[in-house]
Amino acid sequence: MKIKYIPLLLALLLMLTGCGQRVPEQTSQIFAMDTVMDFYAVGDGAEDVLVEAAQEINRLEALLSRTRQGSEVYILNETGSAALSQETAQLLRDALTYAEITGGAFDITVAPLVDAWDIHGDDPRVPDDAEIAGLLTLVGSGHLHLTDGSAALDAGCAIDLGGIAKGYASDVVARLYRERGIQGGWISLGGNVYAHGTKPDGSLWNVAIRDPNDPAATAAMVQLSNEFAVTSGGYQRYFTAADGTVYQHILDPKTGRPAESDLLSVTIVAKNGTLADAYSTALYVMGEAEAVSFQSAHRAEFDMVLITADSRILYTPGLAGRISCQEGGRYELCALS
Ligand code: AMP
Ligand code: MG
Repeated sequence: MKIKYIPLLLALLLMLTGCGQRVPEQTSQIFAMDTVMDFYAVGDGAEDVLVEAAQEINRLEALLSRTRQGSEVYILNETGSAALSQETAQLLRDALTYAEITGGAFDITVAPLVDAWDIHGDDPRVPDDAEIAGLLTLVGSGHLHLTDGSAALDAGCAIDLGGIAKGYASDVVARLYRERGIQGGWISLGGNVYAHGTKPDGSLWNVAIRDPNDPAATAAMVQLSNEFAVTSGGYQRYFTAADGTVYQHILDPKTGRPAESDLLSVTIVAKNGTLADAYSTALYVMGEAEAVSFQSAHRAEFDMVLITADSRILYTPGLAGRISCQEGGRYELCALS
């Protein structure tokens, strides 16, 4: 089996233009949470803020990683129960809320299936129907029991925060930018972007949405300020089986298999990075029709850009005038009502 991994760094391209004057600025790059993370900050204290941002990301990884021995999530998965910090407990409560709101399309208890497929790992494989059926009995929010300061899992169950942890981390770093008075900048945690303030010339940040058919290219650009843009897509991680079938990493918790979505990618634009991360994963699972009706019911919470398998780029009204795509290119840009 051949594994293909498109570095999440390439998921979004941020373009900085129009710097008319010299202002203190700082960039940094780290590798954490299994992805490359880039930071850019403009303003007094930018250097210190980026040091702190890296420390915060490392602190969160030490709490939330499934693979880091001693993390709260590691202990919970390994032993079936764990004492939780307030922060982890709140994130798990949020994850359960998003599972409920999305009708289970987003579900952190999908972990046993993530392990069985091992699409992130060195030896991805296709579990047989009986194995999937058995593992599906371990999936569902009812298997995770949260009490004050601790969590417990039913036997054989586990959680995977891969669909939400980077979104939460982006919220934490965004708060740091705000509290430290950073004037402008951005962070890019793999496919999770936060655009802070404006460019030094006062204009909005341009965030590129990758072309799922050619991840080195851009499908659309959106202009953002003080917003998160989180993209999920099957093209970000996948493996190709010996028979040529491509299996991507976002699983449908109802079938136990990689979601067979009619969407190539989902970008959620919101003021809340955690929500944007959970919803981008969930709406990819839902597919176009359900994603559109879900967004209609939650339009105060977020905007979105859907790239469909039949080459349309759909965007919600809140992005009108802030989104563009190459004229005469592969995709047709279509406004949703
Ligand atoms: P994202 O890139 O944010 O869409 O998250 C995808 C990752 O979350 C996968 O690589 C898995 O680790 C995990 N995952 C897969 N399917 C789901 C799902 N339906 N709900 C929650 N997490 C998932
Ligand atoms: Mg996600």
